[in-house]
Amino acid sequence: MAGSETPRPEPTDWRLEAACRTKSPELFYPTNRRKTAAARAICAACPVRQACLDHAIANREPEGIWGGMDEVEREREHRRRRYWARRAGQPVRPNPEKIILDHLGTFGAWNGTITALAAELGLARDTVSKHVNRLHRDGRLYIDRHGIYLADLHRARAWAKEVSA
Ligand code: SF4
Repeated sequence: MAGSETPRPEPTDWRLEAACRTKSPELFYPTNRRKTAAARAICAACPVRQACLDHAIANREPEGIWGGMDEVEREREHRRRRYWARRAGQPVRPNPEKIILDHLGTFGAWNGTITALAAELGLARDTVSKHVNRLHRDGRLYIDRHGIYLADLHRARAWAKEVSA
């Protein structure tokens, strides 16, 4: 998705072998079916496809093709893995979006920076930033002009009334 690409993090070992290492990152944020198919074809021949997919699922990468899957497929795969992990009695990593919404739900608003929110939640700043943007885009989180994040529009309106009174 050109224009809203998530910067890919610093290389780790598996990235050194990535088939996309010499390709334009834009290829992996395709805007149509033909481009999506081209990105998937590169992933299909990539020697680190599985590590890439695991990374994208673990970090809930919100956009782009990772490990040959788009965001909808990764979300499905994420749910499938959680289901089987639960069945096997394994600990399940909490969903960052749920952590953020729960936190905002408890406090009503976040009057601070993304960095401070990330520190308070014990999450990476990039992860929080990505998920806050995604929640905002999906209409599940409200951001006003002061950059204050609220759990929902109802709370946001009540809060706005309070501060302007
Ligand atoms: S699987 Fe695709 S996106 Fe992932 S490293 Fe390989 S080529 Fe890049």
